[in-house]
Amino acid sequence: MVQLGLVGYPLHHSLSPHLHHAALRALTIPGEYKLFPVLPFPKGSQEMSRLLSMLRDGELLGLNVTIPHKQTLMPLLDGLTSEASEIGAVNTIFCQDERLIGDNTDAPGFWVDINKILQVSNSIPQEDSSSITRRALVLGAGGSARAVVYTLVQHGWEVVVAARRLEQAQELAAHFQRLPINDPKAGGSNQWSAIKGQPVVGSIHFEKSPILELVSQVNLIVNATPIGMWPEVEKSPWPEDIPLPSGAMVYDLVYNPAETMLVRQARNEGLMAKNGLGMLVEQAALAFERWLGQTAPRQAMWKEVL
Ligand code: NAP
Repeated sequence: MVQLGLVGYPLHHSLSPHLHHAALRALTIPGEYKLFPVLPFPKGSQEMSRLLSMLRDGELLGLNVTIPHKQTLMPLLDGLTSEASEIGAVNTIFCQDERLIGDNTDAPGFWVDINKILQVSNSIPQEDSSSITRRALVLGAGGSARAVVYTLVQHGWEVVVAARRLEQAQELAAHFQRLPINDPKAGGSNQWSAIKGQPVVGSIHFEKSPILELVSQVNLIVNATPIGMWPEVEKSPWPEDIPLPSGAMVYDLVYNPAETMLVRQARNEGLMAKNGLGMLVEQAALAFERWLGQTAPRQAMWKEVL
């Protein structure tokens, strides 16, 4: 019996068991994917150690990790893939030669999914059009924003991160820019200035006026906050009275409801917009492949969540 699971807190609305059970069923692999609610550290430390021992002993084949452990768990592992290390967050753990390794499949999951519409967009410059700048505004600076920013930077995008705590956006930007934070009060100006050969990652306060200042230069807006997630479905992270930039694309990591307020706003303004369900399926498929060593049955996984 293959034993898989998810650690985090709280977990009751997770779709991961549905996705992984569908994959196991489709490949006729006997197994189960359990939810392991583990409180934030230090309260959950003992339970987390127990689960990691089970993984080391082979009682568990793999674990997914979600809020609040994606970063705090990292020191308990024996190694990280280069992606998890660069991003600074782990969402998948596997055991290799008795060593617990942390990986991050959110980043490639996001890229695979967003590419499905980037490639058919006429208004967004393609990756090979090196002379044209592709600029993204990422709302939120938590764990998933780190994966999103990492991926976009890897593919040559310039990124500005907006957070309600400016220092959180600045820390994230500095991490990817590989530059020290210059001036803690600098949010809002000169966000796209590049240093030759360095990725361009800026930071602003998640407020109306700094967003207004740069919005016309943006081709992509990514929501990496939980704003708009069920049950608060009438909320949008986009500030009122600022039109979405024409020709831009909107990607909302939130997937419940299927059409978030932000996605609806974007579609009403004639923009291409996508929710985060495809990223969810792809990050699960990639974790599954990491654990089982065989191609994940994506169609069956999609069918299950739709
Ligand atoms: P996280 O680590 O808690 O980060 C959330 C970010 O949003 C933080 O910067 C937080 O700021 C900010 N934020 C929260 N509420 C806000 C508000 N009312 N106004 C302004 N900023 C606010 O969470 P995460 O793991 O990045 O997840 C973010 C969202 O993405 C969640 O809805 C999650 O379900 C979704 N997600 C989807 C996928 C997928 O596969 N589609 C994968 C991962 C995550 P503070 O730190 O100041 O609170």
